[in-house]
Amino acid sequence: MEWRDANRMTALTDLTLAAMRDGLRARSFSAAELAQAHIAAVEAARPLNAFIVETPDHALKAAAAADAALARGEAGPLAGVPLGIKDLFATEGVQTTAGSKILEGFVPPYESTVTAKLFAAGAGMLGKLNMDQFAMGSSNETSAFGEVVSPWRARQPDGALSNRVLVPGGSSGGSSAAVAARLCAGATGTDTGGSIRQPAAFTGIAGIKPTYGRCSRWGVVAFASSLDQAGPMTRDVRDCAILLQAMSGFDPKDATSLDAPVPDWEAALTGDLRGVRVGVPREYRLDGIDPEIAAMWDAGLAWVKDAGATVVDVSLPHTKYALPAYYIVAPAEASSNLARYDGVRYGLRVNEGGSLDAMYEATRAAGFGPEVKRRIMIGTYVLSAGFYDAYYRQAQKVRTLIARDFARAWESCDVLLTPTAPSAAFSPGDKADPLAMYLNDVFTVPSSLAGLPAMSVPAALTATGLPLGLQVIGRPLDEAGVLNAGFALERAAGFAARPERWW
Ligand code: GLN
Repeated sequence: MEWRDANRMTALTDLTLAAMRDGLRARSFSAAELAQAHIAAVEAARPLNAFIVETPDHALKAAAAADAALARGEAGPLAGVPLGIKDLFATEGVQTTAGSKILEGFVPPYESTVTAKLFAAGAGMLGKLNMDQFAMGSSNETSAFGEVVSPWRARQPDGALSNRVLVPGGSSGGSSAAVAARLCAGATGTDTGGSIRQPAAFTGIAGIKPTYGRCSRWGVVAFASSLDQAGPMTRDVRDCAILLQAMSGFDPKDATSLDAPVPDWEAALTGDLRGVRVGVPREYRLDGIDPEIAAMWDAGLAWVKDAGATVVDVSLPHTKYALPAYYIVAPAEASSNLARYDGVRYGLRVNEGGSLDAMYEATRAAGFGPEVKRRIMIGTYVLSAGFYDAYYRQAQKVRTLIARDFARAWESCDVLLTPTAPSAAFSPGDKADPLAMYLNDVFTVPSSLAGLPAMSVPAALTATGLPLGLQVIGRPLDEAGVLNAGFALERAAGFAARPERWW
């Protein structure tokens, strides 16, 4: 390859999704060139283990179709944009595993609604992104296909890059790593209790979980159906708005899909927060909060004031019960959803020649990883006859109280501003105790239980050069308000850091 070509390819993978869209229309480059540049970046980044399967043919075919459509002047909004797809989305003819051995080799004969919408808008797929098994985890360590390595490395006091491996967050860790490493400008993620927002925060990118019901769950492998939501992960807020727009919309195939119009979210991005009341939930000021996280939060509050907002103190009194309630409700739903993996219909089958029951047991014992088994056992326990009232019913009541806390907060504010996670990225093995891992979800879980739109925006670097994110939570269906507050924060933060290439 000529040095000029190499530079051009890097320049193409550095573009935001909006810049790709506009450059393609201006014929500054072709969709085929764009796809090739990204395919090369994906191949060069294999040490990150971000993809479970690469699908260069899919990306090239979509690019050819996009170039033809662009020439005819009738290209869709995402024509020629190559994306990464989390391996939780069923993709027709392409292996879909949810990060688990139990689905290894499963090739869906159908397409999820969200990916079908993205492809209909002209996007191509570079591959299926690695993830925590069944989306259970916060670090990608539970993937059956090896952990994803963050493209970020901390800086040592002398400024040199440390060679200590960091996690990309989870469960959408393949998505966050791929977007941060410039393997794709955008990726799909899913968020049940923080799986879009926390990995976005860990890798210095933006991600939004829309209101529950905005994006169809049809064809998305189920974890906890009353919480699961799809959403985009991109390098900036504008790209989140563009991608979310293409992913959203009513779907009669999902009984919980919202029949609400999809506004033009990109048009809502003014960065003007005059008249907006930004709430600060006092219960999120945890004792012993990391001083760098507290400083970022204070900076965020100053930034929204500069953009014209007023800052108000609010109380969400049941916050401390959110994490325990989530870790009852989510495993309960998971235990029921995962009953379908029995070795009969799809995926792995371990048959040692015994009875049908023996086949079920052997298949599930071999196919599920330890975290998934832990969740199934917790879920089965909290739903069992003797314990249902003490755990599951109680957790459902707490969920209602948490939703009411937010509803009351909306009387005095329009959006809430909090940190996304209590720490920067950690290293694999640092949180070997499952409870320590669960605690990382403390700021993301309450809005999930309430079904609210929430996003993470890159806001600051730690002293060792690792990204931190701010979370904006909004009213039901007010993605426009969330995105616009995120846009104002992004502008003020001026976050321009990117991982230095070591792979
Ligand atoms: N980390 C949380 C969990 O393990 C959230 C995961 C998610 O949002 N999918 O359940």
